[in-house]
Amino acid sequence: MDPIISVNRLTKKYGERIAVNDISFRLYPGQVLGLLGPNGAGKTTTMRMLMGLSKPSSGSVTVFGHDTRTHAKLIHSRIGVVFERSNLFENLSAYQNLALFCRLYDTPLSAIQPLLERMDLWSRVQDPVKSFSKGMKQRLLICRALIHRPPLLFLDEPASGLDPVSSKIIWDYLKEQITGGTTIVLTSHDMTEVEELCDMIGFMNQGHLITFEKTNILKARFGQPTIRVTFQSDQGMAVETLEPTLQNLQRIQSLYAEKRVINLRSMEASLTEIFQKLCENGIPPQTEVRSQEPSDRR
Ligand code: ATP
Repeated sequence: MDPIISVNRLTKKYGERIAVNDISFRLYPGQVLGLLGPNGAGKTTTMRMLMGLSKPSSGSVTVFGHDTRTHAKLIHSRIGVVFERSNLFENLSAYQNLALFCRLYDTPLSAIQPLLERMDLWSRVQDPVKSFSKGMKQRLLICRALIHRPPLLFLDEPASGLDPVSSKIIWDYLKEQITGGTTIVLTSHDMTEVEELCDMIGFMNQGHLITFEKTNILKARFGQPTIRVTFQSDQGMAVETLEPTLQNLQRIQSLYAEKRVINLRSMEASLTEIFQKLCENGIPPQTEVRSQEPSDRR
C-alpha cells in the first residue's frame, strides 16, 4: 500500500530558531495520527508544511504521492482543514459560507442541509456567522472541511475550548468519518479523545519527532501496567496500585488465599502519563523514516 503522506527529513527554521527538526514518517490510508507535544513543540508548523501552506527549509513532503511544493492546488482540492483560528466569512450566513465552498469544490448544494443538521446548526442556517458562539463556529468549520468529502483531514485542536455538548457533536462526527475510512492528522490536548480516536501517535518535543508508533505499542512500551487491588484490610477496605513484580503477585495471591480480595483490575498507563514521561525524557537524535503499515490496525 502506498503512503498517503510521506515526510522526508523535514526541517523548518525561523531565523535561528528550528521549529521542526529533521523529521520523517509515513502515514497510510485509513490511519488516524495524533500529533502530540507540549506548547511550541512544532506540531502546527509541521501540519502547515504537510498541507503545503508553509515551505520547508529543507526536506520534503508528498501527499497523495504529490510534492506539496509543486502540487499544492491539487492537494488542497482533496483535503479538509480545520485550524483553531476561525476564518469564516463573519457577515455571511452559515449556508452562504458553505455554498461558497461547494462552488469552490464543485460539490452540489444539496450536501449542505444534512451536514448542518448533523452538526445541530440547521435552525441557525440563515443567521450571520458573527452571531454564532465559538462552539457553533467550530462546528461550522467542521462542516466546511468535510463538505467535499475529502479522504484526508487536518484538524488542529478541532474541539479546543468548547463545552462538552459541542465537543461531543464534533468528536462523534469525526468517529463516523474514521469508521468510513477517512485518514486524519490531528493535534489535540484532549488525551481522552486522542486515545480513543488515534491509532498512531507522533510525539514532538522541541521540533523533534520523539516517537511515532501505534497507540497500543506506545502504551505497551512506555506504560508500566499496574494492578489495582481492592481488599479487606484490618482497618477496613483498602485500595493499592501495584506494579506486577513477583513479590506483589505473591502478596495478591496470599490476599486471595485469605479471601480478602474484593476487586482486582489491570490498569494500563494513560496517554496523559506517557505524555508526561516523554516530556521529561531527553530528545534522542532520530532521522529514520517512521511508519507502521495499517495491516494490523488495533
Ligand atoms: P502549541 O501547542 O502551543 O500550538 P505547537 O507545537 O503547535 O505549539 P508551533 O506553533 O509549531 O508549536 O511552534 C513551534 C516553534 O516555532 C515555536 O518556538 C514558535 O515560537 C515558532 N514559530 C512558529 N511560527 C513562527 C513564525 N511564524 N515565526 C517565528 N517563529 C515561529
